[in-house]
Amino acid sequence: MSAQRRVSTLCNQLSCQCCSVPSKPLYGCHLVGSLGLDDAESVFTTCSEVFGPLLRRIPDGETGPSRRLWVFNQRTMMAKMPEVDQERTKIENLICFKRGVNVAALRLRTGYVEYAKESWEVFSKLKGQGKIPQGTRFQVCLATPYVLSSHVHPDYWAEAFIAYEREVYNNVEEICAAIPHEHLSIQFDVCYEVIVSEGEARVANHMCIPDISPAAVADAVRRVGLLVNAVPPAVETGLHLCYGTAGSAKRKTLGPETVDEACVVQNDMGTVVRITNGVQKVLRRPLNFVHLPVSNKDALDNKAFFDPLAELDPVVKMSTEIYIGLIGSGMRNERLNTEADLRRIKAAQAVLPNFGIALECGLGRAKDEVLPILKSHITALEAAN
Ligand SMILES: [Zn+2]
Repeated sequence: MSAQRRVSTLCNQLSCQCCSVPSKPLYGCHLVGSLGLDDAESVFTTCSEVFGPLLRRIPDGETGPSRRLWVFNQRTMMAKMPEVDQERTKIENLICFKRGVNVAALRLRTGYVEYAKESWEVFSKLKGQGKIPQGTRFQVCLATPYVLSSHVHPDYWAEAFIAYEREVYNNVEEICAAIPHEHLSIQFDVCYEVIVSEGEARVANHMCIPDISPAAVADAVRRVGLLVNAVPPAVETGLHLCYGTAGSAKRKTLGPETVDEACVVQNDMGTVVRITNGVQKVLRRPLNFVHLPVSNKDALDNKAFFDPLAELDPVVKMSTEIYIGLIGSGMRNERLNTEADLRRIKAAQAVLPNFGIALECGLGRAKDEVLPILKSHITALEAAN
């Protein structure tokens, strides 16, 4: 497929009026999940007003005190299970199970289905009222199963992974049964696999994939692809590759660090490109979109940092919407700096001329800054185009 045809396809997906002509180089925006707004309705209406059709899908913002910190409320939910050893869990600050429990057979609740159904009600109501652009989909974000490292004590990782992975597959099936496929988009948050692929052994030791051998990393990436394959073809599916922004793993292993800093230092786009290509190799369905983060503030003006984008699988280059997380990259104080955003865009475009833009991760911990940060996407997009 020619570059023009590819752009036209995306142009069409983005409801552009001029599908026979290559669209502008930056073809839209993407939000990876959390937004520090009051509730799902505020997220849907605010995003619709700011982005219009330039945002193909809207997440529910993962709002409210329980969901604000990404998946960490899942630990609270699991802690209520009768099979949990409360005393040891309190001491270890990670879920421990009672002696003799068959952990692999447990149903470990994630909350994803309940949250998706609740937010879909709001989304469909607003769409019916014309408050969300017609072509915009409802985006449900689920973390990949290795996230259980955040909740469960290492003694139980092997067994708990079996249970947790099964639960994520169940969640996908239930969500797809509850929400019309033509309105639904599923994003898998791929964080632990990214950090392990980066070869950070010290951080990996705190995850349930401490083995960072090429075979172990390849298996972790293959499992992401299998999960994507489980989504029905009419449901758009994509990936958010994530370096984290809580800095928690780094704090735990390397000492106190700044909140909002990525968990590990990203050397260049090589790791996220290799993961994307690894996932693509096992796919039996389209990967509709992929979000590739830029978490390193040294990416400014640095073409070499973006050079690995040239190695993206040709299928991904031709048929997947590619969103680069280069808006406000690096640290909190880098946000709302359009000049820096444009310099990163220019450096990336020297390697990959067409892509969409995004933040490096979610925006759950932002408060008053949310609206200006959202608007900064449009400012950068218009200035670059
Ligand atoms: Zn993220």
